[in-house]
Amino acid sequence: MIRPDTFAFDNTYAAELEGFYARWNGERVPEPRIVHLNAKLAVELSLDSDALASESGAAVLAGSEAPEGAVPLAQAYAGHQFGGFSPQLGDGRALLIGELIDRHGVRRDLQLKGSGRTPFSRGGDGKAVLGPVLREYLLGEAMHALGVPTTRALAAVTTGEQIMRQDGLEPGAVLARVASSHIRVGTFEFFSARGETDRVRRLADYSIRRHFPDLINSADPYLQLFREVRDRQASLVAQWMAVGFVHGVMNTDNVAISGETIDYGPCAFIDGYDPGSVFSSIDHGGRYAYGNQPAIAQWNLARFVETLVPLIAADDTEHAVQVATTELEAFQPIYQDFWLKRMRAKLGLAGVDVGDLDLVNELHRIMAVQGVDFTLLFRRLAVAAQGDPTEARALFTDPSAFDIWLERWRVRTAGEDGSGFGQARAMDGLNPVYIPRNHKVQEALDAATEGDLDPFRRILSVLERPFERRAGLEEYEGGAPDDFGPYRTFCGT
Ligand code: AMP
Ligand code: MG
Repeated sequence: MIRPDTFAFDNTYAAELEGFYARWNGERVPEPRIVHLNAKLAVELSLDSDALASESGAAVLAGSEAPEGAVPLAQAYAGHQFGGFSPQLGDGRALLIGELIDRHGVRRDLQLKGSGRTPFSRGGDGKAVLGPVLREYLLGEAMHALGVPTTRALAAVTTGEQIMRQDGLEPGAVLARVASSHIRVGTFEFFSARGETDRVRRLADYSIRRHFPDLINSADPYLQLFREVRDRQASLVAQWMAVGFVHGVMNTDNVAISGETIDYGPCAFIDGYDPGSVFSSIDHGGRYAYGNQPAIAQWNLARFVETLVPLIAADDTEHAVQVATTELEAFQPIYQDFWLKRMRAKLGLAGVDVGDLDLVNELHRIMAVQGVDFTLLFRRLAVAAQGDPTEARALFTDPSAFDIWLERWRVRTAGEDGSGFGQARAMDGLNPVYIPRNHKVQEALDAATEGDLDPFRRILSVLERPFERRAGLEEYEGGAPDDFGPYRTFCGT
């Protein structure tokens, strides 16, 4: 049973940012039923998972009933979508139910996605269907297990409805997700585009209090806010690149200022290494291709800093623009630093050597030429570090360039304390055995849509421990078989 004290909400967004959202309630649905509940996350949030799993818990998680203390609301935001500005997006099919303080004292949003139409729905039906809901669940939890900052899935619930989508009727579903906040670059753009500088300032002040309290007494808080958000994006995208993740829709409304990965739509992991990898069916120009992600992150940050310019130096726009530009341009070296650090660790390189960037770039070049499986190669390099490069070499149809690289790598690591066994162990702690392989994800989502949840539960349990090879899970290790064809993902609506 959901008792009045089940959720100890403490709603600051609702209380402090009137005018930034619309109060709204979820739609009633015929038959809310829990598909999967994240009991561990419930514990982290001090929530009673038995209560969540009950009938009234399912109704709450579907948005069909509002729990005591909830102030459900749809947040306003704008966004640059594929480069073009949309002044009015907002939560068209999501509701922020409330904020919870987790066991570590961290404030987190509980949001329902797919809970019905809101004032921001435009032509949409406000709903979500099971496949995309479970994709977000799986991919988000996989990213978390890989150590990448991300929103989390608390529950997936079916609604008992059938929803019309391009391939016909599909089971309606709601994802209950948890984020350190849902403030997006697009939230700033919404008010900035209307010339509401005071509201941009209120939002910036709120963001600072919530995410960067150290800046409260800073002399130039808004510039510092930009720096923090920039650095978190740089770190985040470096981590995406290091695990082979393609977000798919890096619109500014899908960029959380907290630095968490948010809004898993047509995302996927690469198998064979190719910077041009695109999976989204709507990304015709490859704007959000794997290799473009760092540049796009910087482009998105440019849109963010533009909203802050009037706050940075209200009386001297020229100066503010100059300062903002300098800080924005710092993104590239900061990103490269994060990325190179990650790549060094993935290759078991201790310390710093001037040749490291070239060594890492050369490996990427060789991988790209032969489309070598990114995840398998790094894992097999740990075996090579212990003296046996056979498996790693076998990934190349022509290993000659790789052999030369291997020798460079061997020379670089020779004589280091961490070489050999210790080096391999450290690499195995960073290079996953299991990532959400596209064909296995698709298989699980298709089965779930047909009513069989076993493949979903199985792959979820595999992805929750990505670094530890376990017997019997060989089918989750490799890339898609040739007959799987090129993978296309859809936008998750
Ligand atoms: P997304 O592609 O999920 O990042 O969403 C972009 C915008 O479209 C957001 O404002 C969403 O709320 C809105 N949206 C997406 N799907 C739907 C839907 N089925 N009904 C209403 N609004 C939607
Ligand atoms: Mg979105």
